[in-house]
Amino acid sequence: MFLSLVIPVYNEEESLQELIRQIEEVCAQNHYEKEVIFVDDGSSDTSWEIISSLAAEKSYIHAVRFRRNFGKAAALEAGFSRAKGEFVMTMDADLQDDPAEIPNFLSKMSEGYDVVSGWKKVRHDPWHKVYPSRLFNKMVSSLTGVTLHDHNCGMKCYRAQVLKEVAIYGERHRFIPVLAGARGFRVTEVVIQHRARKFGVSKYGFSRFLKGFLDLLSVKLATTYGQRPLHVMGGAAVVMWLFAALLFLLNILISVTFTSFHSFFNTCTHTISYFCGYFGMMLMACGITAELITAFYQQGMKHSQTNFSIQEIIRDPEPTDSSPSVMK
Ligand code: UDP
Ligand code: MG
Repeated sequence: MFLSLVIPVYNEEESLQELIRQIEEVCAQNHYEKEVIFVDDGSSDTSWEIISSLAAEKSYIHAVRFRRNFGKAAALEAGFSRAKGEFVMTMDADLQDDPAEIPNFLSKMSEGYDVVSGWKKVRHDPWHKVYPSRLFNKMVSSLTGVTLHDHNCGMKCYRAQVLKEVAIYGERHRFIPVLAGARGFRVTEVVIQHRARKFGVSKYGFSRFLKGFLDLLSVKLATTYGQRPLHVMGGAAVVMWLFAALLFLLNILISVTFTSFHSFFNTCTHTISYFCGYFGMMLMACGITAELITAFYQQGMKHSQTNFSIQEIIRDPEPTDSSPSVMK
C-alpha cells in the first residue's frame, strides 16, 4: 500500500517541521510506504525555504511552489495531479489535523469506501466559525444527499480513481465527497481529534460561507442539471409564464368589475410583470448558462490547462494522466 499525502501550505512556517516529524512517526509505526507532496500556495514567509530544506534531506518529500496565492483548491489540484499513491490523503499544514488519525482513515478505506472524510466532532475553532459551519454542513447534506457532519474538513482520504474523475476549481475542494458521491463512489466519514491552531492565523474569514453557499449552488446544478440545463431554465420559464397569465387574467377581471380602478391596476401589473418577468428570466438564464459552461469547461480542461501557475518544483513526479478510466 502506497500512500500520498497532499498538504497545501500558505504561510505555515512554524508548523512544517513538527508536521513532518509526526507524519514520519505514524508512518514508521504502521509501516506505510509514503510520499508527501507539499504545495506552497504563494507563501510570503519562510515556508518554502523550510520545505526546500526538508525535501533536500528526505527523498519522499516533493514540493511545488506557486507563483502567487491561488487558493487551497488549486494547491490540492496541483498535488493530486502528482500523487502516485493508491490512496491519497489531504491534511492541513497547520497541525490542526493530527497525523495519528491516518490509520483510522485507511482502515475505513479497507472496508471498501472510496472517500473517507474527517469529522471534527469536537472542534477547536472560534464559535463564529463553528456555528455557521454546522448550518452549512446541514444544508450541503440535505441538498446533495451526501450526508457528512463536516464537509469542510481538511483531512480526507480518496481512492486514486476518485481524483482522476472529479474536477475541482474555485473553492470546490470542499465538495469532492459530494461530487464523488454523485458519480457513485462510496463516501463515509470518520471522527477525528481536532487541535487548536498553535501557530500562525486562519486564512479564512466569514466570506468563506458566502462563497461556500455559491459553490454549493454550483455543485448542485452541475451534479443534478449538468446534463439537462433545460429542466431548470424551462421550469423557470414555465413559472414566469404562469405568473404572467395570472396577472393577465386578473387584469381582465379587474377592468371588467371595477372600472375606476382599471388604469392604476394596469400600470401596476404592467410594471411588476415587466420587471419580475424580464429581469428574473434574464438573470436566471444567464446565471445558469454561465455556471454550466464553467462546469463543462473546467471538466474538459482538467490538467490540460490548469488555472494556477507553478514557480518551482523539487523532485517532481510527472503529473499523472487525468483521463477517467474504468475502475478495476
Ligand atoms: N491554505 C492554502 N491556501 C490558501 C488558504 C489556506 O494553501 O489560500 C492552506 C493553509 O496553509 C492550511 C489549510 O489550507 O494548511 C487550511 O487553512 P486554514 O488553517 O487557514 O483554515 P481553517 O483551519 O481556519 O479552516
Ligand atoms: Mg486550520
